[in-house]
Amino acid sequence: EVPAEVVAQIDEHVRGLEAKSGLVFGGAARPLLLSVRSGAAISMPGMMDTVLDLGLNDGVVESLAADRSRARFALDSYRRLIQMYGNVVAGIDAARFEHLLEGLKAERGAGTDVDLGADDLRDLIARYRSLYLEETGADFPQDPRTQLLGAVRAVFASWNSPRARTYRRTYAIPDELGTAVNVMRMVFGNMDERSATGVCFSRDPSTGAPGLCGEYLVDAQGEDVVAGIRRPSSLVGMQADFPEAYAQLERTVGLLERHYRDVQDVEFTIESGHLFILQTRSAKRTAVAAVRAAVAMVEERLIAPEEALGRIEPEQVEQLLHPTLDPRADVDVLSTGLAASPGAASGRVAFDPETAVRMSADAEDVILVRSETSPDDIHGLVAARGIVTAHGGIASHAALVARGMGKPCVASCEGLVIDEHARTATLAGVTLAEGDVLTVDGTGGRVIRGAVELRPAGIDARLATLLGWADDTAAVAVRANADTPEDASTARRLGARGIGLCRTEHMFFGEERLPVVQEMILAADAAGRQDALDRLLPFQQEDFEQLFETMAGLPVTIRLLDPPLHEFLPPLEQATDARMRARILELREANPMLGTRGCRLGIEWPEIYEMQVRAIARAANAVTGRTGVAPEAEIMIPLVAFGEELDRLRGLTERTLAEEDCQAVRAIGTMIELPRACVRAGELARRADFFSFGTNDLTQTALGLSRDDAEGAFLTEYLESGVLAHDPFATLDQEGVGELMRQAVEGGRAANDRLEIGICGEHGGDPESIAFCHRLGLDYVSCSPYRVPVARLAAARAALAEGGAGAYAPSGG
Ligand code: PEP
Ligand code: MG
Repeated sequence: EVPAEVVAQIDEHVRGLEAKSGLVFGGAARPLLLSVRSGAAISMPGMMDTVLDLGLNDGVVESLAADRSRARFALDSYRRLIQMYGNVVAGIDAARFEHLLEGLKAERGAGTDVDLGADDLRDLIARYRSLYLEETGADFPQDPRTQLLGAVRAVFASWNSPRARTYRRTYAIPDELGTAVNVMRMVFGNMDERSATGVCFSRDPSTGAPGLCGEYLVDAQGEDVVAGIRRPSSLVGMQADFPEAYAQLERTVGLLERHYRDVQDVEFTIESGHLFILQTRSAKRTAVAAVRAAVAMVEERLIAPEEALGRIEPEQVEQLLHPTLDPRADVDVLSTGLAASPGAASGRVAFDPETAVRMSADAEDVILVRSETSPDDIHGLVAARGIVTAHGGIASHAALVARGMGKPCVASCEGLVIDEHARTATLAGVTLAEGDVLTVDGTGGRVIRGAVELRPAGIDARLATLLGWADDTAAVAVRANADTPEDASTARRLGARGIGLCRTEHMFFGEERLPVVQEMILAADAAGRQDALDRLLPFQQEDFEQLFETMAGLPVTIRLLDPPLHEFLPPLEQATDARMRARILELREANPMLGTRGCRLGIEWPEIYEMQVRAIARAANAVTGRTGVAPEAEIMIPLVAFGEELDRLRGLTERTLAEEDCQAVRAIGTMIELPRACVRAGELARRADFFSFGTNDLTQTALGLSRDDAEGAFLTEYLESGVLAHDPFATLDQEGVGELMRQAVEGGRAANDRLEIGICGEHGGDPESIAFCHRLGLDYVSCSPYRVPVARLAAARAALAEGGAGAYAPSGG
């Protein structure tokens, strides 16, 4: 309810408005018309209601219509009032008014609203009035004050409309915030030839370029600009047609921008030569514009660097780094799926990695379309521009590799069925053959038929400036997950402060290496196994050398082999001989994810880990000799649950390093990926120099939820039906998995006060999870190279949100 004192204030201020304007609310001669608009603290475009033209009634409209040049304008305003009021205040379905309007237009053979004359509009008003009576049992109120208070109540009430609630949920706007309601004098841009209406921005909302920018229409109403009935002209024309109003607009908009210290989106009307500002709000803008404007405003001393950081959403930064679809492009969407890795790419379809490699060798852009991908598809993923999978989620192999490589990926693509045999895929009833052209929109989760024009991207000087401020503000450092020198140099270019996870399994694939790895697995005895490992070592050493050189001066955390060995053998049907067949059967496990992998592999097959450590040591020594700079290597043991595991593998690592006389490995640590490791953190911390949370596995094991199966199946259902609000593989389950992490940090630090702690699961690139890691006091987060800038900004914002600690402190460097 609107309190009586507010009603009294409304009356008082309407009288003030009458005095100021020389018009009378409800007066027949010089009527004052009012609008009632919402005014929430955070703009929710189109979500709340507005009522215009209040103050018109049968008497006022006829007196206005007596001036024949204004008759149409007056009657049209009246019918709009009944329609808006009927809908917003009386709750009559808007479609019923539209139906009457369309009916009348059909009867009169009128193409558009503008073709209806004054008499037609009188007729329409009568029909609207009967509808109003029929629906509400009362006449459309003739008393202007009744109209006004009805509108005020309704606009307040629209705070709780279903769409406003949904919008608030989507953007996390608190329901308790409430809204203001603005009562304003109506002005008319459709009064005459010296009238106009328009929208302008204090800076270009798509590029951020300084200077007024916008559109306007002569002799028109605001709605006409929005509805696109007539094509508006650029403000440049206004400068010529209305020089005075333009100069005043420019001054006023500049003033508004300085006052609000943000880019403004301003609605204005010129009524017979006089400029009126109807509303101003912070402008919605593209990522490019957001960065440019924020950096410029710091330079103009309008805002502080902290505020600039607060103006850019981390996810917007990601948009700047990937080529994206031109949003104006007209596209033929075949299917949608999970937006697993952002960006967009067009290319020809390939159904297997070999074909992808062959096609890309022929200089074709390739889109790899697979049921799912596994580590041995890596060459196909490298060759492809974009990836589409039928199964798997955003922590699936395809998705994390795609993000690591900065390639767009749509996972769990709806209705995608691949016929390996016929080499075709069907998607929404369309059959695709190898070589057909598709576009992957990894930002929007869409698979599009044919090629689409893309817009390029990159880190420019402005973004670099902004991210420099972010680094000066953040308490948590950002590293990258990178396995190859290419990934590493991308990570470095994007500002990573080291490598937090180098997964070494990729070093076991490739046409030269895989046969040797298989020999090692199939060897009859230890000697045969060692022989194969000896041949594998130089390959890995070379990889590590490149990685160390690329990351010179920064830490490189290398994880020893993690996946189960069967992943290096072909499927049973493709076994080449009886021996291989037998070995495949021997290595088979019902739940390989919970089987012989991670450190268990290192304990069962110590010679594999020993070979890896030796390769790291020799690479470090070689690089030190060659460049004079010792690498800052760190060795990490995966999937540890027990102190004894770490004891043994740390022992093996130290022994091997000593044998190689290597001093460059500055730390030996463990991944924390199992609930036991969290609750027994002290036991591990006494034997570790660092912890790195592997939250992909930790989520999987804490929730008992397979990361490769769940997202395609019931997790989707859980998210849709609201059992879960977030995908726990994308955003940390703070109460569950996060609680285990908290215990691990506490227990770990209590046992070892020099323990360094980071995170290298996919969550390390998710802003909300980064904020949580900041609150836990982690030293670093590590994420895919292309997420690094997002994470840098998110880390800074986490520090700012907490206030005090870590606030902007220029390094001067
Ligand atoms: C993890 O489990 O979070 C992790 C980083 O390791 P991987 O994804 O390779 O299992
Ligand atoms: Mg893991």
